[in-house]
Amino acid sequence: MDKKQLIAKLDREGILPADDLAQLLRGLDSEETELLSGCARRKAVSLYGKSVYIRGIVEFTNYCRNDCRYCGIRRSNTRADRYRLSKNEILSACEGGYRSGFRTFVLQGGEDMHYTDSDICEIVKAIKDRWPECAVTLSIGERSRSGYESYYAAGADRFLLRQETSSPSHYAYLHPETMSLANRKRCLDDLKDIGYQTGCGIMVGSPGQTIENIVQDLLYMKDFVPHMIGIGPFIPHKDTPFANEPAGDAGLCLRVLSITRLMLPKVLLPSTTALGTAVSDGRLQGILAGANVIMPNITPPRGRCRYILYDGQIGTEGDTQEDLKRIGDDLKSIGYFADMGRGDSIM
Ligand code: SAM
Repeated sequence: MDKKQLIAKLDREGILPADDLAQLLRGLDSEETELLSGCARRKAVSLYGKSVYIRGIVEFTNYCRNDCRYCGIRRSNTRADRYRLSKNEILSACEGGYRSGFRTFVLQGGEDMHYTDSDICEIVKAIKDRWPECAVTLSIGERSRSGYESYYAAGADRFLLRQETSSPSHYAYLHPETMSLANRKRCLDDLKDIGYQTGCGIMVGSPGQTIENIVQDLLYMKDFVPHMIGIGPFIPHKDTPFANEPAGDAGLCLRVLSITRLMLPKVLLPSTTALGTAVSDGRLQGILAGANVIMPNITPPRGRCRYILYDGQIGTEGDTQEDLKRIGDDLKSIGYFADMGRGDSIM
């Protein structure tokens, strides 16, 4: 089968043998690229219309106990200027977000055990008490099952935890010995089992990643059936061991987004900040490749200028209102619109 036939088959059946997925990932000419992204776009529009869900991210701490080799807030980066937001600062970020129309708050941070399980529960409860109609998403890394259960009982709705890679040896190349793919997957299984709308995902082009690794990830995700999938290019950070590694290829990242949409049609698929950093109109290209979520930053300025995961990261300065207006205008220019509703999973 040629690549156009493979794309048509993927569109019809939602799956291809590993070798065929690898062929599509390795490269497409412009006609094939348009065919793939067109199929993915139509699939997304058939389920979600032309709406793109908008979520507000609050980056509440850049302290991290982990030492992931790719990440700017890794423990060993002594040049990172560390900060933590208090419960009140988090609530006032949500308050501002609520007034701007956000109905999902994503609390993201390094793995910072300064916030105990009961602190996280208190923060989640305070948000849900004040804005019961809003969804709370946590993205705080690996914790115990009992911790995850307590945040869920406190009202958390969703949890994002990228597996980063589904290959144990590639995982070991990216992470310190204290971390394991087995534990990452254990966390994902627990989260889904507890009842969270669960998100996993990968960086595209992370050092050492092969096309076969991405295929493994696609097959893992097809099998896991997450509610959300975060996919963005790897971008180096100057104060990490991967400072001199090349950034992931944005074209490959767009192909991975489109293939993901065709393999898991209902999934909530953000067009990520990293994609918007890699290419100036990257977030729009992501939507045109089948993504349907954008997550602007609603972190107060003292945090957002310090939560630096990679060089050149967008959204670290500037203002939420301006950002929202630009996103709304940009979406309109391609015939889409910003949907500020909760945007729950339809799985
Ligand atoms: N600590 C939480 C966790 O581990 O899920 C959430 C914060 S972590 C910084 C969020 C995501 O940032 C990671 O899952 C990773 O994929 C992404 N990230 C970190 N460094 C990156 C880089 N250099 N380029 C692109 N994405 C990066």
